Amino acid sequence: MTDYATDSILVLVELMPSGALAGSAAGLLGAAAQVGTPVALVVTAAGAGKAAAEAAGALGAAHVVIAETADAGVLTMPVVDALAAAVAAVRPDAVLISNSIAGRDIAGVFAARTRSGLAIDAIGVSRDAEGIVAHHSVYGGAYNVDSAVTWGAPVITVRQGAIDARAEALTPAVETLAVTASGAPAATIVSFDEVVEASSRPELRGAAKVVSGGRGLGSEEKFALVGQLADALGAAVGASRAAVDAGYIPQSHQVGQTGVSVAPQLYIALGISGAIQHRAGMQTAKTIVAINKDADAPIFEIADFGVVGDVFTVVPQLIAALDAKKA
Ligand code: FAD
Repeated sequence: MTDYATDSILVLVELMPSGALAGSAAGLLGAAAQVGTPVALVVTAAGAGKAAAEAAGALGAAHVVIAETADAGVLTMPVVDALAAAVAAVRPDAVLISNSIAGRDIAGVFAARTRSGLAIDAIGVSRDAEGIVAHHSVYGGAYNVDSAVTWGAPVITVRQGAIDARAEALTPAVETLAVTASGAPAATIVSFDEVVEASSRPELRGAAKVVSGGRGLGSEEKFALVGQLADALGAAVGASRAAVDAGYIPQSHQVGQTGVSVAPQLYIALGISGAIQHRAGMQTAKTIVAINKDADAPIFEIADFGVVGDVFTVVPQLIAALDAKKA
């Protein structure tokens, strides 16, 4: 049985269908390394954990716990069972999980089952004399609040893209964990249709750069300008709800309170006024650039760089300048 450090932080790393680590893993392990010794939990099919363990080590996991599951089509519960076994073995000071759709589900069920405190959508973690503290940006980014639990190890979901810190690569000690299935009722995937992603653009959630368009783009055809700037930058495409409601782009691209929360290095808002509900999903971006023809648009209150101008004049020049730099 492995001896785990007394300051261990258990990180649930998500795997892509290909078996590669999800993009959230680097930030989770980076955050864990800031406050303790990162221990990664990999839940995977039998025999498939070795490559994931190496990848987790490259991102800073000092230990990797592999839980093998035969229940690939069962949602949430096999991972919750594995988390319970891993927490019993590692006795971490905190459990970090991505604030993804699957991660939120797992975190909620695990916290309820183990009567642990749950802190969701953290944008950072720290340690004080009493344990691990989660930091959150709430009410549309208007307030920063801290949360901590009064007993046990907190279960913390971490906003994708919010953590810049990266841990040093390590060669991890690897242990395979025996997991007893709880038999708790679970949803099972009976069949699925694979969505073929035609776009080569990065996925919005977790993207390092996002270019978003709003109602100011004026039509679905003209919204193509947002994609052109995104492609020039290698960015994902986002949108305001007004742009979605007007049919310029599908809802999966909506950023904000009722859409996706993003925390990229660079967020460019084109023709977006900056309503509180939009800001709720992007205010923690590291650098915000706004282009809007109304100098009084609220988006300029939070922008690091602002251009007062017509997007159809400014953006083509910006794309030409970016292309000239690449040539
Ligand atoms: P507008 O507010 O109409 O702004 C368009 C901007 O484009 C203006 O500032 C204008 O000056 C500028 N503009 C126009 N033409 C040009 C041009 N040629 N060049 C440059 N600038 C130009 N909104 C979200 O985005 N995400 C959410 O998740 C969300 N959730 C909501 C939840 C609730 C419960 C509610 C009530 C609202 C929610 N909203 C959300 C809607 C939100 O309140 C705003 O209505 C919306 O964000 C406005 O979108 P917009 O900035 O694109 O449009």
